[in-house]
Amino acid sequence: MLQAFGRLLICVAVLAVASPPAGAQTAAGDPDAARKHDLIAAYRILVNEGILDSFGHVSVRSAKDPGIFLMPRAMPPALVSLDDLLELRVSDSQPVDPRGRRVNGERYIHGEIYQARPDVVSVIHSHSQAVIPLSLTAIKMRPVVAQAGFLPPETPTFEIRDARNDGDRGMQVTNSARGAALARTLSRYPAVLMRGHGNVVVGSSVKQAVVYAAYVDINARMQTQALLLSRDIVTMNEPELFTPQEFDINRPWEHLKQKTLDDAARARVDRAQFGLDQTQAKQ
Ligand SMILES: [Zn+2]
Repeated sequence: MLQAFGRLLICVAVLAVASPPAGAQTAAGDPDAARKHDLIAAYRILVNEGILDSFGHVSVRSAKDPGIFLMPRAMPPALVSLDDLLELRVSDSQPVDPRGRRVNGERYIHGEIYQARPDVVSVIHSHSQAVIPLSLTAIKMRPVVAQAGFLPPETPTFEIRDARNDGDRGMQVTNSARGAALARTLSRYPAVLMRGHGNVVVGSSVKQAVVYAAYVDINARMQTQALLLSRDIVTMNEPELFTPQEFDINRPWEHLKQKTLDDAARARVDRAQFGLDQTQAKQ
């Protein structure tokens, strides 16, 4: 009896080790599997960091068809799972197959930016409370902390009044014309503020967009706090900015992701990727 119980335990242990992570079973053969998993992780991270509120959203361009992007149905960000993802067309921001689900009203932000920016693979729209104050004044968001050196000297601010027709109402980007106007204001930059509303951050991967969004949030807070001390603050100048290649995205991505894990999941993280299994050479 005890032997049988022992064999059962071994079987359970082997199965536990051999089992793929949750959700991976549905991903077999799907070229978008990695991007979908990163998208779910992005939601966990951005909710955990207080960047995504009840109405923010994240999307990723499809790896199998650049004319398609993936984003969840309209729902609370904290609850997003793989099954909630819908495919939408870049050309008109409409779902390929809504599966009877309510699509997000501000999906045009994503579709129009993917149309205008073939280099963009992921789009994040948040109502980050750290960033909104800077959208309300003539003071531009400028890079002030070293890790935000991917920002331009001035981040543009989108004014919805410039995109609304006579008689139109509202602050949200709920049609193609408003989305296209926002994409024009974003221009070639990684971020755009939206007056009284929030911001959009884009990246060449979900990881890059998430890390950029985290540092946009930090940068905005630091700039605002410095402005409380003095209107005369020192911002980063051109030689202090960096190219995307100069920024190790993986470390902050893993750090932010692991903050969302429990201890058991954190213990399974591959430490070798950070060189932690190597001995430091004598300097
Ligand atoms: Zn919004």
